[in-house]
Amino acid sequence: MEHNLYQRKTCRYCDTPLGSAFLDLGLQPLANNLPRKDDAGKPEFRCPLSLVKCPACALVQLTHSVPANLMFDEYLYVSSTTRTFRTHFAEYAEDVKSRIGSKKNALAVDIGSNDGLLVSCYEKCGLKGVGVEPAKNLAADANQRGIVTLNRYFDLETVREITARFGKAQVVSANNVFAHIDDIQSVIRNVRELIADDGFFVIEFAYLVTMLEKMYFDMVYHEHVCYIGVTALHRFAERFGMEFFDIKAVDTHGGSLRVFMQKKGGPRTREKVVGDYLAAESEKGCLGDGIYHDFSKRVLAFRSKLNDMLSDIKRSGKTVCGYGAPAKATTIINFCGLTPATIDYIVDDNPLKQGRLVPGSGIPIVPSSHLHASPAHYVLIFAWNFAPEIIKKIEFLKEKGVRFIIPLPEPLIV
Ligand SMILES: [Zn+2]
Repeated sequence: MEHNLYQRKTCRYCDTPLGSAFLDLGLQPLANNLPRKDDAGKPEFRCPLSLVKCPACALVQLTHSVPANLMFDEYLYVSSTTRTFRTHFAEYAEDVKSRIGSKKNALAVDIGSNDGLLVSCYEKCGLKGVGVEPAKNLAADANQRGIVTLNRYFDLETVREITARFGKAQVVSANNVFAHIDDIQSVIRNVRELIADDGFFVIEFAYLVTMLEKMYFDMVYHEHVCYIGVTALHRFAERFGMEFFDIKAVDTHGGSLRVFMQKKGGPRTREKVVGDYLAAESEKGCLGDGIYHDFSKRVLAFRSKLNDMLSDIKRSGKTVCGYGAPAKATTIINFCGLTPATIDYIVDDNPLKQGRLVPGSGIPIVPSSHLHASPAHYVLIFAWNFAPEIIKKIEFLKEKGVRFIIPLPEPLIV
């Protein structure tokens, strides 16, 4: 079996041998490799999608690693496409800037800079922003708009190039990508190399405990390699000569954390909130196994409930379409076995996704104008983290009697 090639034997943070998975979402296609319409029916790459917890450092991670070049060379997710993210990164840059002090033109490097949204926010608040982005299309687009972006993976060569051209960084940031990189030990080493002694590293990621408590299992897909809790990350940072000094809760992706760390012995004092998070995770049982097995049981129950709900709707002769085709939609759709027989189409405002299919399912992705032309009786909101924004946009459908389904934490018709 080809996919056994990709099985991970040891913990990505601490190298301890891994045991067996606590959650199995089946053989899944790559969530962001959207087949073109003409490729319908052709076999797609598939790999087991399962979660395992490290017995030593408690890091929750995928049991398999898909080679990065299969996933990131052409990336269809563009952060600037939603207003929520534009506001978010403007605030993020201000937060970073306020912690740097009055240094003029301080260098701020963003790893996995996507289309350069955060880098441009750094520039707007007076920092020297530089992005690092492996996806060719996104890096080219950012550079065309004057946002300095190196089109490469974040490795030692990249660090050397940045240091030679711009000097050491006051801040290095990595948002979501930190959970997306398989060889994360080399990343933290390279970050440590890149930041000045009084600089810091800030990462933002979807928080493991939120995922467990709110049932956001659709955050699990191959690109998202680690599901980060404070305890595991804290141990990891220490192992590589870094220390936490602050943690801030932010509401992206349904509940994320922004963690700040500096080189051990750096100038900043540790805020009390760091200890609070560590204590809370220990109390919640994040270091044990029960919480993860319980999560797995609830995920299986979710599948039955959604499938029952959709079968009832179809049996009554009604139609269902989807709203939003983010990576997380692929996870739910493949885990629940949804096909065009259940979901007629999915609308998405990202033009890069239109005319393509949801991986593994054959469900077509179309522009949202389709909702006017051929409305369905039910709209399943896969991009649930933008549900309020979406529902506002398609409120006119409600007047026509269309109903909305919000899948998580539990399938709910509103
Ligand atoms: Zn570990």
